[in-house]
Amino acid sequence: MMIVMKEGATEAQIAAVVKRVEAVGAHAHISQGELVTVIGAIGDREHVANLGLEGAPGVDHLVPILKPYKLASLQYRRDERTIVEVDGRKIGGDHFATIAGPCTVESREVMLDSARAVKEAGAQLLRGGAYKPRTSPYSFQGLGEAGLRLLAEAREETGLPIVTELMDVRDLEPVLEVADVVQLGARSMQNYTLLTEVGRAGKPVLLKRGLSATLEELLMAAEYVLKEGNPNVMLCERGIRTYEPSYRFTLDLMAVPVLRELTHLPIVVDPSHAAGRRSLVEPLSLAAAAAGADGVIVEVHPCPEEAVCDGPQALRAEQFAEYLRKLEAAAELAGKQLEVV
Ligand code: PEP
Ligand code: MN
Repeated sequence: MMIVMKEGATEAQIAAVVKRVEAVGAHAHISQGELVTVIGAIGDREHVANLGLEGAPGVDHLVPILKPYKLASLQYRRDERTIVEVDGRKIGGDHFATIAGPCTVESREVMLDSARAVKEAGAQLLRGGAYKPRTSPYSFQGLGEAGLRLLAEAREETGLPIVTELMDVRDLEPVLEVADVVQLGARSMQNYTLLTEVGRAGKPVLLKRGLSATLEELLMAAEYVLKEGNPNVMLCERGIRTYEPSYRFTLDLMAVPVLRELTHLPIVVDPSHAAGRRSLVEPLSLAAAAAGADGVIVEVHPCPEEAVCDGPQALRAEQFAEYLRKLEAAAELAGKQLEVV
């Protein structure tokens, strides 16, 4: 339930509403607009419905939020879109950003070469996993804390903010020390403990859609983070599992305009993991940008043939600048600007 206060409602009236909301065991989420204050009463549906705040001092009107996700809904923000800002780089609204880098941090040389290449070409953020979710337990699992140190070195040299995955709540502290954006991978989308902890930590989050998750499940996962008071959540479409075996996953581009109708949160597309092969990455990226995505996260490697993982889908570092130029044009079609810092 959204409780829209009257223009000029007093602090005491707002506090009285908050008290009533909390008295029924719900959480009061206050957003202070330019003219009016809106209080989200988030909690058990029945209790919230029986608050009886119509006509209470300072209350203008009540708006029920019918979706199961509340803070994530576009309605909750009254159509105003969230813009996530990471060290001066904006994602969301009219701002398009590119996150690029290798799949995993595999060595100092590869990490620094990748970072220099994507910076030089004009990417806004640097990606690289130090903890890798692998299907086989015998595959390379990531360099862990040593990988995080290399990411820190890459940021130090290039100034690019770091996007890196957190898989296990036990690694929260070291990851938070280095990550500017904490990535929650497709396989962790419904790890509710992780979502809650990342919500409490307050760092921007890139939440990837589970391999078989519906958009509502993705938004409910985002709600876990938002509920803890962390508003900086970006959603990521990275391909879902379908019956089609010709590519790694099916990039669900329809998710982009549909999510825009449902939520105010920025929408990022990962063409690399959906495609599984390099030749598909550019057309999918251009389509995503033209469809209104707020950014892409894309794998780039200085020598994909030697990559420890996901080499076949990595763009070559030398083709990346040209790719970004085309991406910029596609983002412009959707009224967005690629920020060059
Ligand atoms: C990744 O981006 O490194 C990754 C493992 O992606 P996903 O969680 O989407 O499979
Ligand atoms: Mn990868």
